[in-house]
Amino acid sequence: MNAVLEAENLKKYYTMSQSFFGRLLGSQKKYVKAVDEVDFQIPRKNAMAVVGESGCGKTTLGKVVMRLLDATGGKLIMEGKDVTEISGSGELKAYRRTTQMIFQDPFSSMDPRFTAFNTLEEPMDIHDIGGSYEERKKTIMDALEEVQLTPAEEFIDRYPHMLSGGQKQRVAIARALILNPDFIVADEPTSMLDVSVRAELLNLMKDLMNEEDLTYLYITHDISTSRFFSDSISVMYLGKFVEKGEVATVLDNPLHPYSQALLKAVPEPKPEMIEVIKELPIKGEVPDATNVPPGCRFHPRCPYSQDICEKEEPELREVEGREVACHFAGEVP
Ligand code: SF4
Repeated sequence: MNAVLEAENLKKYYTMSQSFFGRLLGSQKKYVKAVDEVDFQIPRKNAMAVVGESGCGKTTLGKVVMRLLDATGGKLIMEGKDVTEISGSGELKAYRRTTQMIFQDPFSSMDPRFTAFNTLEEPMDIHDIGGSYEERKKTIMDALEEVQLTPAEEFIDRYPHMLSGGQKQRVAIARALILNPDFIVADEPTSMLDVSVRAELLNLMKDLMNEEDLTYLYITHDISTSRFFSDSISVMYLGKFVEKGEVATVLDNPLHPYSQALLKAVPEPKPEMIEVIKELPIKGEVPDATNVPPGCRFHPRCPYSQDICEKEEPELREVEGREVACHFAGEVP
């Protein structure tokens, strides 16, 4: 497989601070395992969705991929090169040029004192590219046109407060594109926007994938948009992938009870579905990450939990064309 990005056994753990008496008694250190032994491969011009509830570790995973956070263990391989531990103004800076991030909140990811021109010029300044003022202006105008902020002259001198939410996110996408990246981490890129502009933005990102040879890690809590935008999907629960595979295979027939529950939570515009939405098959919230349940970490919320689920942690295994971490995958209804 011609993978642009690969993760092997990738981990991000945080050490919890110990009490004075805990240190005195030499008690074992505790960790929050935000990303716990995650593997994936994303081929060129593909999008992999990572879906899960808030607190499942998906944004941490995005930050580790961006190298905004250092991995605790495992490997991150970009274009065949191990980038897990690169650092400094040479290799890491070059990596950050080819790997860009689109943040969830266009309202806070832009400096209110910056016009669209300033916002798009800043990455060129940081990476010392773009040539003369006229050359940079031409590049910025082209980038604004590419994200359909046309005519660009109308938008180039606007401050964030002079742009709608959708226009701000288009400027944020143009900022990510201005360095001509190969890989983009899109962290809930449409969740702060009106429903009416979400589809437009996802369409734009999809078009750019083909036109600019882009590859995406698409982080979302909205499993329904992953069908439209992604080629593959990884469902994350408490730091681990519990089901992953081709998007149609997983979403047409999810085998993990958590994937099934996420799909059932997607609002349906049919009145007769209201009862189904009220009767979600899982109860409660994601448990505290400092105290991950033993065995299958999903067992306290799983309607199909058996004794073995409380004792043995299921590994990801191949079932019906995807990988699932459930002792009873393919057997639960
Ligand atoms: Fe539910 Fe058991 Fe499967 Fe975990 S292993 S998802 S608790 S049935």
